[in-house]
Amino acid sequence: PTERFRQRLGRARSSLGNTVASIFSRGITDEAWDELEEALIAADVGVEATTELVEGLRERARAEGIRTGDEALGLLKEVLRLELGVADRTLSRREDGPSVWLVTGVNGTGKTTSIGKLAARHVREDEQVVLAAADTFRAAAADQLERWGEAVGARVVRAAEGADPASVAFDGHASARAAGADLLLVDTAGRLQNKKELMAELGKVKRVLDREAGQCDEVLLVLDATVGQNGLQQARAFMAAVEVSGVVLTKLDGTARGGIVIAIQRELGLPVKLVGLGEGVDDLAPFDPDAFVEALFA
Ligand code: GDP
Repeated sequence: PTERFRQRLGRARSSLGNTVASIFSRGITDEAWDELEEALIAADVGVEATTELVEGLRERARAEGIRTGDEALGLLKEVLRLELGVADRTLSRREDGPSVWLVTGVNGTGKTTSIGKLAARHVREDEQVVLAAADTFRAAAADQLERWGEAVGARVVRAAEGADPASVAFDGHASARAAGADLLLVDTAGRLQNKKELMAELGKVKRVLDREAGQCDEVLLVLDATVGQNGLQQARAFMAAVEVSGVVLTKLDGTARGGIVIAIQRELGLPVKLVGLGEGVDDLAPFDPDAFVEALFA
């Protein structure tokens, strides 16, 4: 995974990684710590998280008598690994009937693509996957999901444009259960133009699935890494509507600011469970904090 992250995180590596390396190459001074702070904030780690991280680092560097830039960089990597290492990133499954993963997020973040990639991965592992197109607001969304279903070998349950999304979720679950499927992935609408209505709709979809399945096994929120800190505001709106269990962070390959992973965990209290590293069907990976930190500062 480190090599894959290294290849795909080129932009973040060349900005954050190189900046930090060059800061410490000039020795460990007050100025260096200030510059490190600036670099982490520029990478979207978030102001509060950065202040705490750098304060902790400075204290440890002092206590441990750290003198060289290499040692300081090693310490930074260790602190980031520890910070990211505490989260539980498992994707919950069940044995009695199809596992239900509800997928939410704003349009354009990469929700449908991520569902397609997830479906492909589980079909490849010999699982039967059903996709439910509960974004009934745009027919194009269901069409797109259908294309993914055809491409990867997953059945798609859809309804007419304007149908009740909760009823599509219900049908999707009934169909997955009847077929003895292993995994149901539910795509939902993400238009932010009418936030209140959208959130009410999402709440209803989740209630129906919870009722049918006992409980959704995962409620995944898709966030676009290139949106940076603004994505955190979007995330809070979704978190107020449904209990989110984890984040799929897309387009990590297209941003110089990989620090958003830390902000999501610190400020939202959500684990990043999967990351999008490109547009291709194989470009979705479990988030591996060690590989991520290693790749950033390699
Ligand atoms: P949705 O509206 O949230 O369902 O978004 P889509 O799934 O249609 O994706 C929007 C665009 O983002 C498409 O062009 C995708 O190919 C692209 N995309 C999705 N995930 C990634 C990713 O991890 N990396 C890159 N570079 N592009 C992505």
